[in-house]
Amino acid sequence: MSGGTDGAGRAGERQEVAVTPRTCAGTGVCAFYAPGTFELDEKGKVRLVAERGEDPAEDSAEDVRNAAEACPTRSIRLSFPVER
Ligand code: SF4
Repeated sequence: MSGGTDGAGRAGERQEVAVTPRTCAGTGVCAFYAPGTFELDEKGKVRLVAERGEDPAEDSAEDVRNAAEACPTRSIRLSFPVER
């Protein structure tokens, strides 16, 4: 059998990421797990790196998911668009 799946990660699928700075507590946990995707702004609130006009970097889908799951205030939402 070929083409193993890693079960946990969904690398290769586009996942959409949204953040809610209003509820962010500024812990920086998300930026620790996925520094290419999340950062803190001048006020210490979460911001997407992409919003600053930079390409989101090399974080794997699993890294981004770990960041979302680790957020203590649930300020990160992920969604997987259905393409069928
Ligand atoms: S992990 Fe959550 S609370 Fe902490 S900085 Fe990121 S979005 Fe904000």
